Amino acid sequence: MENSIGIEKFLNHINDPELIAILNIQNVLLQELQNYAVNNGFKQLMPLLISPFTDPLNHQVYPATIKYGDKMLSLTSSMIFHKQLSLIPKNINKVFILSPNIRLELEHKQKTGNHMLEFSQFDFEIKNASMNDVMKYIEGLYIYIFDIIQKRCSEELKILNRQLPKLQKPFPVYSTTEIPLDEVDDYCTKLSKELNSPFFVTNLKREFYDREDPDRPKTYRNFDMFYPEGYEEALSGGEREYIYDDIIRRIAENDTDKKPLENYLKIAKMGLLNKSAGAGIGVQRLLKFICGKRKIEDVCMFNRSVGTNFDV
Ligand code: AMP
Ligand code: MG
Repeated sequence: MENSIGIEKFLNHINDPELIAILNIQNVLLQELQNYAVNNGFKQLMPLLISPFTDPLNHQVYPATIKYGDKMLSLTSSMIFHKQLSLIPKNINKVFILSPNIRLELEHKQKTGNHMLEFSQFDFEIKNASMNDVMKYIEGLYIYIFDIIQKRCSEELKILNRQLPKLQKPFPVYSTTEIPLDEVDDYCTKLSKELNSPFFVTNLKREFYDREDPDRPKTYRNFDMFYPEGYEEALSGGEREYIYDDIIRRIAENDTDKKPLENYLKIAKMGLLNKSAGAGIGVQRLLKFICGKRKIEDVCMFNRSVGTNFDV
């Protein structure tokens, strides 16, 4: 019985005219995210789903590993390390991937309306870039995307009764150095509700691969961007650790398991990693903000948000 309620809900959802409007916007969004990157000299890589190592993340999730032969492999939580590895060749300077990520988030994340068990990142990395270069690229990208969606999807926005904010450069930048550590999350939530522009927050203590400022120990050359109107986190980015000794020190500090990273560390030790910076945009969260929806599953044909029944 419960099963047929799930099926009925699914059929209602996929037949809702709003979902068709959302899918039309998604078409334009995916096409233009990729166009903008390709036109700016990025090479597109294919996504990976199984690897010996993946992003250790800075929050707890249920494990997502599979055994193949005698190897334990991880389902991709992000392609951070593969982005770095892909920049090793001399002639590859900018890469991006439309990358499915599996993160078996804990149940309490359901209430955010922003968390899925699988989602996609528009994930990119630029050799020799600084975090400021990446933040500038993001501003340009968002202004381009919002302009073009306004132009190409005006009918759909009308169906959704959504008025897109008019974005203007530069987006405000805040630093956590101005905020007590245990108040950072609440402060960002408050700003997300109050501001009418996307904004950056810099200097966040998290995974070992985000670069510690060599001139200012315990400050980090990274950032998050948040959406206004209470839509919360949009993306995370930063400069990367690429020097073997720094990586090892940060891994020890963070208590990260080194074992799966064995080959990544060997490559780092060979001095092959480059200075780089990049970011990963949550695609469904961007679509959700554009469409003015409060629950992430509302912009997805198939519900994979935390709390899903996996009806289909
Ligand atoms: P992260 O590097 O962990 O911040 O992930 C990059 C971006 O992906 C985030 O800023 C979010 O926009 C998005 N994201 C992360 N986790 C999830 C999730 N469980 N469901 C949907 N989107 C997510
Ligand atoms: Mg993040």
